[in-house]
Amino acid sequence: MWFIEEVGELAQALRSGNPNELAEEFADVLAWLATSASIAGVDLDEAAQKYANGCPKCGQTPCQCPEPAGCNPQQWQP
Ligand SMILES: [Zn+2]
Repeated sequence: MWFIEEVGELAQALRSGNPNELAEEFADVLAWLATSASIAGVDLDEAAQKYANGCPKCGQTPCQCPEPAGCNPQQWQP
């Protein structure tokens, strides 16, 4: 699936730290995410409202939940 490939490329770009490459890969992932949602009949704007006011659990942006990596992007290792 193209979306998964793009996420893999984004992971590589996050490791590389190249700002131009990062922006390009984030754009590619966003484009494929929007395309996948459209094909599945999901209104992505409506779905994203889940996070409109920050994390649904703690209400913070970015999430400040005490759970280990996976929930809080600040805990992700590049
Ligand atoms: Zn949270």
